Amino acid sequence: MAKAKLATVWLEACAGCHMSFLDVDERIVSLLEKVDIMYSPVVDSKEIPKVDVGVISGALGNDEEVHLAKKMREQCDILVAWGDCAVFGGINTMRNFMPTKEVLEKAYIDTVSTVNPKGVIPGEDIPELLPKAIPIDQVVKVDVYVPGCPPDADTILWVFQELLEGRIPKVPADMMRYD
Ligand code: SF4
Repeated sequence: MAKAKLATVWLEACAGCHMSFLDVDERIVSLLEKVDIMYSPVVDSKEIPKVDVGVISGALGNDEEVHLAKKMREQCDILVAWGDCAVFGGINTMRNFMPTKEVLEKAYIDTVSTVNPKGVIPGEDIPELLPKAIPIDQVVKVDVYVPGCPPDADTILWVFQELLEGRIPKVPADMMRYD
């Protein structure tokens, strides 16, 4: 039987959702007997190929992330919103209470760890911020929602099992863990 093809992207997010994949530990061996990871922060590929399943972690906060989410939608038969940032916007939405100019000043000038004596905010070199951080389904159609911060390893395996058996999973409330 042909293996399912998987792509994952990491948008406006911390590493937690992708690190949670690694918590499946040795069970990843049997998963990889059925799934090929074609594109992901954990593999070295440059273009998002056509795949069966795409997983997005992270919210949308700038125009590059919107572009990547749309590309994933084009290339993936089934699109999964992975983790609270992708599903709801998550912690990224804390900046929605400030104008983007103030957000940039906080990031590039005011933060105590920033060394920026001339107070320069990069312009064309960085992707343009959206007015607000938003969940991915405000831009692309999502087929599967997996809340959690991050979703845990058992939930990851269950979701993939369901997808591999041809079902579109609906994560039950008792699996929406926040470990
Ligand atoms: S849902 Fe939580 S773990 Fe996942 S990317 Fe967002 S903040 Fe990180």
